[in-house]
Amino acid sequence: MVNKYVISSGHGKIVRGASGYIDEVDEARRVVNRVDQILREEYDGDGWTFHDNTSRDQSTNLRTITNFHNSKPRNIDISVHFNAGVAKATGVEVLHHGKHGVIAAQLSKAMADALGLPNRGQKVRTDLYVLKNTAKPALLLEVCFVSNKHDADTYKAKFEKLCQAIAKFLADYLGYKKSSTTHVEVASNNTETFYKTGAPLGLYRVKKVCSTYSGVDFTKADKLQTLKVGTAFTVTDIVKFGNKYRFKTKMGEWVSAKRAYLEKV
Ligand SMILES: [Zn+2]
Repeated sequence: MVNKYVISSGHGKIVRGASGYIDEVDEARRVVNRVDQILREEYDGDGWTFHDNTSRDQSTNLRTITNFHNSKPRNIDISVHFNAGVAKATGVEVLHHGKHGVIAAQLSKAMADALGLPNRGQKVRTDLYVLKNTAKPALLLEVCFVSNKHDADTYKAKFEKLCQAIAKFLADYLGYKKSSTTHVEVASNNTETFYKTGAPLGLYRVKKVCSTYSGVDFTKADKLQTLKVGTAFTVTDIVKFGNKYRFKTKMGEWVSAKRAYLEKV
């Protein structure tokens, strides 16, 4: 059975969080929804999202969120918040209850790298209700400061990169794999990265180590020789094979027509 997550937004629709250049609750919801979507669509992930739309006071809000987390058979709990402070305060931090410093530090660094904002790192907080009362490893993300214009602008500009970084952290932690639909997309995009039929024939030079084969399907048994960087050879033909392209050399061998491997001399 696949490992699962619960990811929720901090505070609630009625019990609001911090507000500044951006609004904490609105943005936390966007991050939660996008990370969940990435884990489902781009990985083989599965889990639950939660946003509190009903609580009218803070203690009900905290209990409602925590009860949702604890009601699911999950392996990790993620709570998304944004920070607030003095105008100069900046950066990313990830809070945990005490035992999860290693993964909190990993995630904080991944988020800070994605945003290009200072990494404030992992912090132990034993006073936070959600961290204290959830039974699984729980991380509380403080994405950046809503009170800092540069943080807010950076977050808006790097939103997708941030969500991808959080999703990748969770995928690694939970053992998810990139889903096959993503592989298909990558493969079809690859046609852009090949010299195609109609590209000039003649002398090409190796930019990245690659191999020659006796057939166009590049089975292991058909492998002939490894071409070192700087080797030049003459291309006499280009053929399409599936959604890939192959060069035929003067020697009668086949080489990938990937632009990353070869340059025209
Ligand atoms: Zn908050």
